[in-house]
Amino acid sequence: MPPGATVDSLRAEVLRHLSFTIAKDPGHASLHDWRMALSYAIRDHIVTPWYASTRRTWDEDRKRVYYLSMEYLIGRVLEDAAINLGLRDMAREVIEGLGVDFNALVEDEPDAALGNGGLGRLAACFMESMATLGCPAYGYGLRYEHGLFRQRFEGGRQVETPEDWLVTTNPWEFDRPESAYTVGFKGHVESRDGRDVWVPGETVTASAHDTPVVGWQGRWANTLRLWSAKPTTLFDLERFNRGDYAAATEPEQLARTICRVLYPDDTTYAGKELRLKQEFFLTSAALQDILRRYCYTHKDLGRLPERVAIQMNDTHPAIAGPELIRLLTDKHGVDFDAAMDVARKVLGFTNHTLLPEALERWSTYLFGNVLPRHMQIIERIDSWHRRTYPRPHFVGIVKHHEVRMGELAFIMSHKVNGVSALHSKLVKSSLFPELSALHPDRVVNQTNGVTPRRWLNLCNRPLAGLITETIGDGWQADLDRLHELEPHVEEAGFRDAFAAAKRANKVALTGWIKDRTGVVVSPDALFDVQVKRIHEYKRQLMNVLQTIAHWHAIRQDPQADWVPRVKIFGGKSAPGYFVAKEIIHLINDTARVINADPVVGDRLKVVYPANYNVSMAEKLIPAADLSEQISTAGKEASGTGNMKFMMNGAPTIGTLDGANVEIREQVGAENFFLFGMTTEQVAERRKDPDHARHAIEASQPLQDVLQMLAEGRFSPDHPDRYHGVVDRVWHHDYFLVASDFAAYHAAQAEVDAAYRDPARWWRMAAFNTARSGFFSSDRTIRGYMQEIWSTESAL
Ligand code: PLP
Repeated sequence: MPPGATVDSLRAEVLRHLSFTIAKDPGHASLHDWRMALSYAIRDHIVTPWYASTRRTWDEDRKRVYYLSMEYLIGRVLEDAAINLGLRDMAREVIEGLGVDFNALVEDEPDAALGNGGLGRLAACFMESMATLGCPAYGYGLRYEHGLFRQRFEGGRQVETPEDWLVTTNPWEFDRPESAYTVGFKGHVESRDGRDVWVPGETVTASAHDTPVVGWQGRWANTLRLWSAKPTTLFDLERFNRGDYAAATEPEQLARTICRVLYPDDTTYAGKELRLKQEFFLTSAALQDILRRYCYTHKDLGRLPERVAIQMNDTHPAIAGPELIRLLTDKHGVDFDAAMDVARKVLGFTNHTLLPEALERWSTYLFGNVLPRHMQIIERIDSWHRRTYPRPHFVGIVKHHEVRMGELAFIMSHKVNGVSALHSKLVKSSLFPELSALHPDRVVNQTNGVTPRRWLNLCNRPLAGLITETIGDGWQADLDRLHELEPHVEEAGFRDAFAAAKRANKVALTGWIKDRTGVVVSPDALFDVQVKRIHEYKRQLMNVLQTIAHWHAIRQDPQADWVPRVKIFGGKSAPGYFVAKEIIHLINDTARVINADPVVGDRLKVVYPANYNVSMAEKLIPAADLSEQISTAGKEASGTGNMKFMMNGAPTIGTLDGANVEIREQVGAENFFLFGMTTEQVAERRKDPDHARHAIEASQPLQDVLQMLAEGRFSPDHPDRYHGVVDRVWHHDYFLVASDFAAYHAAQAEVDAAYRDPARWWRMAAFNTARSGFFSSDRTIRGYMQEIWSTESAL
């Protein structure tokens, strides 16, 4: 807690901000006004540690980490900042004392949804962990005006509407218009005095907006610097004077376009010039800022790696390699070989996916048009690499008229990391086999993690309270201490308390579900949750098919001893991803039929609240009994949702994919519901051209489900609606839904058996929490600091 902070002082600060920052009288203040007043009061407490951290970094000339990411899925800030500062309970007391509903005030804050899914949420967890660990760091990103779209359902279909998180003032950001850089596009390259000089055809100004990120107990704070684009010439006065008013604002419109939206897709690359411009805009502004900061106190750019580490979050900022070379050679006169040496010591690259369609590639035509100088530099890097590491069949950066960003990022980095043990192995063996053979020490693993401050301490107050009661405080920043819970897991009293904490979260969730969806569910049912982006490889389809099979089985024998279940789905589909949208429609249609079935009643309910985001995750995950992590093996790089469920005491039903493998190792095979083919078995299975037919013929339940879908049982208004789905399962089942179905169905029956035995169930659940310490993002960040960034904590 900040020294001297008391309920009285905080109340005075809130009232002062209400009067003098918001200019509202307490008698007439709206919920929004109170939220702003409290946010400013809390923010004031961040500024002191933020100054202190920044000052110390300068004074001690510390190495800084620069995290470059196109996405930050931050969620709400107020409660997270308050809890890290030790002011949350005090804030609640102050706000309730003023006659305002604290929970409603917290909920009034819009989610900063500047990301699609796991990759963006990881960046947000990393920022928090770097602050907690006292690792001097900056996050660089884009300040998207509309973030990710908002999802609604109309007749069960996903409809996208713009996210408007910046419509009201964002109290957490500080505009820094003095930190501005010019970023160019297009144009041509000229030779001047023997040097190549890029003369851009278009320019925009990148202007900084800083958000402080405060760590646990306010001991350190870092900066998240988001860029917005401003026109270099504000306004075309000549055109205006000629009466062409619309054209006069063209420069502004062009600039605004750059930061308007986040591409709403985390797996397939949007082949758009605008996306390439966004990526370059972020990267160029960040690198100019980094070099300016370095050159402020240093002269020798050859020693940049001693003070600077830059991490590329996936290939999106992979243009950092050539841009750094351009700045060092064209602007600072460093020769090419020396620049290559510096760049490759400074840069690190995190790969996030094995899906081939998600590896960015740009046509050389588009790339050369938007970034002509960078195209030249990339060709030079490519020939440098071929010369330095000659191999007859080596796949280079530029091939078949495409620029391959994965290869570029690999070559320009001193370390390339995957995000789980299995994934890193596959990065080496199947994604970059030639490059890994040439550079055998380059690929390393850093298994993802999540911050326990937000994902346990903040979102699950009942369980956090029980943990503190049982093992004392301090686990929030030393999550391995959760192992101290293990001896208590054998005590019935502890298990009862654990179950009671879960039940409190479930009761709270039932109210929220009723408000959001109108469906009444019982907290006594097993809450079975699959929340994540909707994608074929994540196999929500398999889950909904199994749900239908389960429903059918209940109808056959309603009086049997069924474990009541609530199937909870959440997630958005990319707007242009037809197959994923069809799955959304099917889940909603299925929910409508099942929830209205009097034969089934409370034995099975299906809910799908719209617009899954961080704030929804904070409600669903603490209330989950079962975590669905059922991707086709070899496809999910890591997953981070899986770790959050584990931490909150929900056992996993899952495949040996991504970090599930490590979750199972940590928690013990007996506390994990494993099913399905391994990565190797998947590859083998695909060799059989009739794999789906064989699997369907071997499973009566699956046959029945597909038959019901084909007959339009869930779409009576449009009986043909799911013929496409059925056809794909039979004939185009790349993700092996049919082949894993029977094993999944059987594993669900095992879940029921375990849930019928409360002693067994709560033992499993509690072990999941007790053994989740490994998945703290503090552990991950320590790994990056040691193995990739060579940097030390300032604390
Ligand atoms: N979206 C949100 C809002 C999240 O909180 C998470 C959790 O990590 C994800 C997406 C990623 O989920 P998963 O790792 O299951 O794909």
